[in-house]
Amino acid sequence: MTDFNSFDLLPSMMEALAHKGYKEPTPIQLKAIPPLLEGRDLIGIAQTGTGKTAAFALPILNRLARNKIQTKAKRVRALILTPTRELASQIDSNLKLYGKGLQLFSAVVFGGVAHRPQIQTMIRGIDILVATPGRLLDLMNEGHIQFEQLEVFVLDEADRMLDMGFIRDVKKIIAKLPQKKQTLLFSATMPEDIARLATTLLKDPVRVEATPQATTVEKVEQKVRFIERAKKPLLLANLLKDSSLKSVLVFTRTKHGADRVVRHLEQASISSAAIHGNKSQGARERALGSFRAGKIRVLVATDIAARGIDVSQIGHVINYNLPDDPKSYVHRIGRTARAGREGVAISFCDESELELLKNIEKLIKYNIPVER
Ligand code: AMP
Repeated sequence: MTDFNSFDLLPSMMEALAHKGYKEPTPIQLKAIPPLLEGRDLIGIAQTGTGKTAAFALPILNRLARNKIQTKAKRVRALILTPTRELASQIDSNLKLYGKGLQLFSAVVFGGVAHRPQIQTMIRGIDILVATPGRLLDLMNEGHIQFEQLEVFVLDEADRMLDMGFIRDVKKIIAKLPQKKQTLLFSATMPEDIARLATTLLKDPVRVEATPQATTVEKVEQKVRFIERAKKPLLLANLLKDSSLKSVLVFTRTKHGADRVVRHLEQASISSAAIHGNKSQGARERALGSFRAGKIRVLVATDIAARGIDVSQIGHVINYNLPDDPKSYVHRIGRTARAGREGVAISFCDESELELLKNIEKLIKYNIPVER
């Protein structure tokens, strides 16, 4: 069982997958799609980059399209909760892509933009709604969304919901969902709180695990450069003189740090943009769009803003600062080498970051080669 033909997916979806150039399912798709098509609940231990979006999107589309019913005003047939606006937009565009021709209507709601258009959208009824928790809860409390028609619920990136302080909102939303539904929970890690939530939320779930994080890490060529803090801007500009570095994601610790890096790069005539929480939704989407289209070479991001960014051609990740949490290093370098591609991760380490580097190496059980 190694190709998509072995799943009972609708022909238009098979075409969409072929058009996307997917030749075979990723391990999580291989393990998750069959039980999901049978209607089972599922716990997926997987991070972005493993192909988990298609693993849940394909069975949901298949289910809703095979059993077409009228979605009433303000009702939803499938709900996908995800922590960030970028992830929500990406999931929605994947749904639209895989679901082309199925005549299912999907929509996305998240904070930071006007309520009114989202309320308008809800009026017609939505087959698949992708949402971040805060805004969804607002719309629910105002009576714009109801769940009697809900068939499938996906809680995506559950551990990140916890990290970002959304778990209370998530629980409030769950309390309003009907008991009878198919439920999927995805999380890269299983902290105690999430494991507890899973036991109350899921009924006899199948548990699937994507290739462990180490495999992603192994696919990335990693290097560390020891450098004085003041010399980091120059080192970055020098590295970027190499025009073979085409799509580069640079991580900084802070929002201001990201803006500073963009200013330095501007001075060196290198096209770049920053995405972080202080930017408007429009500015973030524009930056991401230009990066994806290859109009800018360098995207500078903080950890939270970059979470889940899905730009498949990212070739290089540069850690301008090392992250405080070593797990973030794994997430960061996982932005490259996605879905089987290879990538390079270069980390700048100044004296104050030596301890952070040690913690990272302990976590990944690998001594990152030093480049001079
Ligand atoms: P995800 O983990 O859902 O964010 O997906 C990561 C990346 O893998 C996205 O760019 C997908 O378009 C891509 N992808 C998903 N499934 C496959 C597949 N079966 N073959 C190749 N690429 C895939």
